[in-house]
Amino acid sequence: MLESSPITILIIDDSPVNLHVLSKLMRQLGWHILSTTSGEAGIRAVEEKLPDIILLDILMPGIDGFEVCRQLKNNPKTKHIPIILMSALTDTESTIKGLECGAVDYICKPFKQQEVIARLNAQIKLHKTNQILAEKNLALEVQIEANEKIKQELIQSETNFSIAFNHSPDYILIHGYQGGVIMDANERFCRLINLTKEQLVGLSFLDLSLWVNPDQYQQFYQQEIRQAEKRIRCLQTWEIKVYDPEKNIHTMLISGEIIQFNQIDCLLVVMRDITERKQIESQLKILSQACDQSPASIVITDATGKITYVNPKFETISGYRAAEVLGKNPRILKSGDKSDQDYKAMWHQLRSGQEWKGEFHNRRKDGQLYWERASISPILNAFGKITHYVAVKEDITQEKNQAEVLYHQAHYDNLTGLPNRLLAKDRLQQAIESGLRNQHLVGLMFIDLDNFKMVNDSLGHDAGDRLLKEVAERLQRALRQTDTVARLGGDEFLVIISKIGQTRKLTAIAQRLLGVLRQPVTLNDHEVFIYGSIGIAVFPDDGFLADTLLKNADIAMFAAKADGRNLFRFFTPRMNEAAQQRMLMESELRQGLARREFQIYYQPFIDLNSGYIVGAEALMRWHNNCLGEVAPNQFIPIAEDMGLIIELGEWLLDQVCQQAAYWQEFVTPDQPLFLMAANISPRQLRDNYFIDILQSLLKRYHLKPEWLTLEITEHLMLEDNADLLKNLQELKKHKISLALDDFGTGYSSLNYLRQFNFSILKIDRCFIQLLPDDPDTVDLIKAIIAMAHHLRLKVIAEGIETQAQLDFLRAADCDYGQGYYFSPAIAPNDLAQLWQTQPFQAGFSADIDAQNSD
Ligand code: C2E
Ligand code: MG
Ligand code: MG
Repeated sequence: MLESSPITILIIDDSPVNLHVLSKLMRQLGWHILSTTSGEAGIRAVEEKLPDIILLDILMPGIDGFEVCRQLKNNPKTKHIPIILMSALTDTESTIKGLECGAVDYICKPFKQQEVIARLNAQIKLHKTNQILAEKNLALEVQIEANEKIKQELIQSETNFSIAFNHSPDYILIHGYQGGVIMDANERFCRLINLTKEQLVGLSFLDLSLWVNPDQYQQFYQQEIRQAEKRIRCLQTWEIKVYDPEKNIHTMLISGEIIQFNQIDCLLVVMRDITERKQIESQLKILSQACDQSPASIVITDATGKITYVNPKFETISGYRAAEVLGKNPRILKSGDKSDQDYKAMWHQLRSGQEWKGEFHNRRKDGQLYWERASISPILNAFGKITHYVAVKEDITQEKNQAEVLYHQAHYDNLTGLPNRLLAKDRLQQAIESGLRNQHLVGLMFIDLDNFKMVNDSLGHDAGDRLLKEVAERLQRALRQTDTVARLGGDEFLVIISKIGQTRKLTAIAQRLLGVLRQPVTLNDHEVFIYGSIGIAVFPDDGFLADTLLKNADIAMFAAKADGRNLFRFFTPRMNEAAQQRMLMESELRQGLARREFQIYYQPFIDLNSGYIVGAEALMRWHNNCLGEVAPNQFIPIAEDMGLIIELGEWLLDQVCQQAAYWQEFVTPDQPLFLMAANISPRQLRDNYFIDILQSLLKRYHLKPEWLTLEITEHLMLEDNADLLKNLQELKKHKISLALDDFGTGYSSLNYLRQFNFSILKIDRCFIQLLPDDPDTVDLIKAIIAMAHHLRLKVIAEGIETQAQLDFLRAADCDYGQGYYFSPAIAPNDLAQLWQTQPFQAGFSADIDAQNSD
C-alpha cells in the first residue's frame, strides 16, 4: 500500500524560505507535501489528513515543536506518525528533549538537503517496516484469537461429549474393530460390569462376564463387521440379554457404528436397557388380550367422547364392527329411554373425575333393544387431566327379562293374568293416597264365588280354571279401565273402585257384578250357574289402611255368605264383632281337641212300632271356657272351612266305634242290631284316607260294619266329585250303610239312593214341625215314606217333639223316630240307663189303626 501511494510529508516551519526550499526538494522526489507555518496549524492539518511523516521546526511562534510533538504523540490516532525535529538548537540537551518528546530524529539547521533526504528516507523505510510488522502482528493476533476460540469450542465440545458419553442413559462401549480390545466405555457401562474404566480398557469384549449368551454378541459383532466391509450403512438393532452385577438378566437393545477412535477403527456399541419396556409391553399385551377376550364389552373414548377402541365382545353385543364405530360417539347406541337429564348427570360425574355406574337401555345395529350394566371411569394423565374414558359393560338383557318375568310372576296371577294380592294391595294403597289427596272415596269389593268348589270338584280342575278365567274377564268387562280387578287366590277376587263420589255408586256396581256372574257358563257341555258373594268396604269410612279395608271387605263378604249368598253386603262395625267372634272361635277350635273340650252325646232312634231304642245318632258337643257351650251348627261349618273337620271327624269316628264296640257286648239275640249313626261332613267323605281310617277303626274295635251308619246330608249328593263317588262305592263294599240326612231340604238324586248303600232316609225336622196340621206336609210325608219303602229304605223322622207328631208318623208307617219327645242327645252312660227303661210307653198306647181310620 505504501509503495503504490505517494508518501505524504507534513512540514511545519514558521520560515517560509525553509518551507519553500524543502517543499521543492521533496516534490522533485515525487512526494506529496503538506505544510503549515505554526504548530497549531500543524496539529489541525494532521487531524484532517494523516501524513506518513512530519518535519517539525522547534522554534516557532505559538506552541513550539516540542509541544507539537508531545501532543501528537499523546494522541493515539497520531502517535505512530514519525516526527523529525528541525532546529538551530544544536545543544545536546535540546536533542535529548526532542527525542524524549517522541521524535525519531533530529536535524540541525541549517540543514543540508541530502542529509534531510537521507534521514527522511531512513525514517520512511523504518516507518514502513514498522507498519508491515504491525499489520503482521495484528493478523497474527487475530489468528491467535481465532485459534483460542476454536480451542475453547473444542474443549467445550469435548466436555459436552464427555458429559453426554458418561451421563447417557445408554451403555456405551468402544472396542477395536479388529480383535475387540476395549478402548473406552461410559460410566454407565462401567457400573453395569462393575469395573473401573482403567480395569476395563485393554480387555477384550469376550472377557466380559456380561453376556448371558456370548455367541449372541459375537453374531452381532460379526454382522457389524460384515456391513462395514461392504460399506453398508444401516442402523440395525439387536436384542441381547446381559447380566447386571446382581446377576439379574436385562434385555438390551444394541446397535453398532464403526468410528475412528484415537486414529483406530473401532466399533461404537450403544446398548439400551429395554427390560422394563419389555415387561410393560408384555403386560400391555396381556391387558390387550384380556380386553380382546373379555366377556364384558369394553369401549374406550377420548376426552371428547369419540370412540378409540372397542373389544370383540362389544362387536358381538352391539352388532357394530369396530371400524364402523371408531371415531364416533357412543350415543349411536342410544335408544332414547334415558332422559337428557340422566345423561347430563352422568357426564357431570365423569368430568369431575369420578367413576359412574348405571344401566343403559341401548339399541343394537339391527334395531333390537338390549340392557347393559356399565361402569365408566375417566382416565387421567400425569397432570390430572382426563384423556380418555373407559366403559366396561355387561349385557344384562336376560337378567332384566328374568327380573321382569319374576316381577310378573310375583305380581300377577298366573291363571287369569290379573294382578295378585301383592299388586292389588299396592294398587289399593295408591288409590287410598289419591283418595286422600283428592278427597274422594275408594271402594273395595271382596268377591267370593259361592259354588266354585262344587264345580271344581265335580267337573275337574280344567273346568274350574276356565271358569275362573271367565269370571276374571266378566269382571274386567263390567268395570272401568281405571278400576282394578285382582285375584287373591282360589275363588276370591278383589275389585278396587277408585275415585267415587258417593257410596250409592258402589251399590250399582255390586249389583252389576252379581248380574254378570249370574250368567250361565258352559263347561264340559254342562251349563253351570255361578254366584258370588260380595263384601264391600269403603275408604275412608271403613278404614284408612289397605290392610284394614281388605280385612273389612273380607268380613262383609262372609256376612254376605252367611246371609244367603249371591248378594252383597257393605261392611258394618257389627260385622266386625261377628268376624272377631268367628276368629276367636277358629283359634279356640284349633286348641279344643288337644284340650279335650269335645264330647259326644247320643240321641236315640226309637222304633215307632214297638217303642224300643234301635240305635242312636252321635252328636258332637263342645264346651269352651271362653265361648261356653257352642252348638254344632256354629262350629261344624267353621271347622269345615278350616279343614279341621277331618281331624275332628276322625276323633269322633274313633270314639263312636269304641262306644259301639262296647255296646255290642250287651246286645241280646232278639235285638242283634244297634244303629250307631255318625254325621260325616262332605269334606271327610272326599278325603283319600277316609276309607282306610274307617277300616282300621272297625278292625281295631272289632266292630261289625253293619252297626255303623254314616249320615250324609242331601246337599252332598249334588257333587260329582270322583273321590267322593269312589269312597261311596267303597263303603258299599265294606257293608257300611248310609243314611240320607236332612231329607227334603236340598235336591236329591234318587238314583244315588239306589246306586250306593243307603238304608235310611231321615226326614228333616222342618217338615215334622209342620205336622200334623199342614195338609201339604202331611201329603208330602206320606209320599216320602211310601217312596222310601218302595226303595227298601227305612225312614227316620227327625225332631219329634209332640204326641201329635208321633201319632201321625206312627200312622203313616214311619219306621223310626228321633226327637226331644223321646230324648235329647245325652251322655253315653245316660243312654245306657235309658236303655234299661225301654220300651217307651208314653204315646205308644194309642191304637194306630184306630188313628188312621179317624
Ligand atoms: P243333624 O245331623 O240333623 O242332627 C240333628 C240335630 O237336631 C241335632 O242338633 C239334634 O240335637 C237336633 N234335634 C234332635 N231332636 C230335636 C228336636 O226334637 N227338636 C229340635 N229343635 N232339635 C232336635 P245338634 O246336635 O245341634 O246338631 C246340629 C247339626 O250339627 C247336626 O244336624 C249335624 O248336621 C251337625 N253335627 C252334629 N254333630 C256332628 C258331627 O259329629 N259331625 C258332623 N259332621 N256334623 C255334626
Ligand atoms: Mg244327623
Ligand atoms: Mg238331620
